[in-house]
Amino acid sequence: MVIYNLKDNINLDDIKQAADFIKSGKLVIFPTETVYGIGADGLNSDAINDIFKAKGRKNDNPLILHVSSIDMVYRIAKNINEIELKLMNKFFPGPLTIIFDKKECVPYEATGGLDTVGIRMPSNIIANKLIEYSDTPIAAPSANVSGKPSGTNISDIIDELGNKVSCIIDGGDTKIGVESTVVRVIDNKIHILRPGYVTKEMLEEYGEVIIDKHILGDIEENDKVLSPGMKYKHYAPNTKCVMVYSKDNNKLISKIKELETFNTLVICNELNKNNYKKCISYGITLEDIAHNIFKILREVDNYNVDLVIIEGVEKEGLGLAIMNRLIRACSHNYIEIK
Ligand code: AMP
Ligand code: MG
Repeated sequence: MVIYNLKDNINLDDIKQAADFIKSGKLVIFPTETVYGIGADGLNSDAINDIFKAKGRKNDNPLILHVSSIDMVYRIAKNINEIELKLMNKFFPGPLTIIFDKKECVPYEATGGLDTVGIRMPSNIIANKLIEYSDTPIAAPSANVSGKPSGTNISDIIDELGNKVSCIIDGGDTKIGVESTVVRVIDNKIHILRPGYVTKEMLEEYGEVIIDKHILGDIEENDKVLSPGMKYKHYAPNTKCVMVYSKDNNKLISKIKELETFNTLVICNELNKNNYKKCISYGITLEDIAHNIFKILREVDNYNVDLVIIEGVEKEGLGLAIMNRLIRACSHNYIEIK
């Protein structure tokens, strides 16, 4: 396995070498602005199957294809409508994935058997060049074993997936930290299937926005969902976690203090830190929290506590994406104090 260190200096020759791995059907881990991806040629069924094997991902959970240009979107998607075009003009490149009708060249292995394909154009320059040099859309789910928090820094990723890939590009910590927003336009309405950095409020300029009801709710085994990924356990540490939320910060603190024992760990806002016995801060702003949360969720098992208590945030703006991840990290173990 080769590691290219492009943290401080982007070397295009290294990216070309990594693109050669993609072209020859191998797996490459690379940074995007959201989280790290474990990538392969999105039009090569064997290479795609290797991603599922490496992650232990269920094969009905479709992958996002990453492109470097709008031209590449047209190579793999059809029936593109006016709203989708406007969304692309505004948010590509960036942390938005749009689900389109797929063209025949996209193998069903990539789409979990669906006739649609999720497409995103990353703004991270390393990701963009890697796709351009590979001259093919790159299928890339988050670089983590399925069910675990997404990979946002290289040392976590090497431990978990290093022996399963041919090449890793180290681009430093990812900027945003939570995955892209996933949308599907149906009858001119924009359905958010996974909340992310692009918020409901940002999308509203382009049409009516509907937040899929499964985003924050529990999902039953046989529920019909628009996005298969919603069904799966995700982001979960091995230690049991509970989330507590209240609009009233004093009530939030007192409920958490009630749950605390000598062997619990609280994950909380920096400003509340002094209230708890043992805690880790996830920062102050929603941007801080999005950036830090996966790294923290990966660390909590090292503390050997009986219970992790996590402070929830308001489900507005970027808070919706954070709460979607936290609720799932806690396996829907969630207390709200009015
Ligand atoms: P990940 O690869 O872990 O970032 O997850 C990709 C997310 O996009 C999952 O939640 C998938 O269910 C969703 N997704 C990808 N392609 C499609 C598609 N064609 N239709 C619906 N959801 C999709
Ligand atoms: Mg993932």
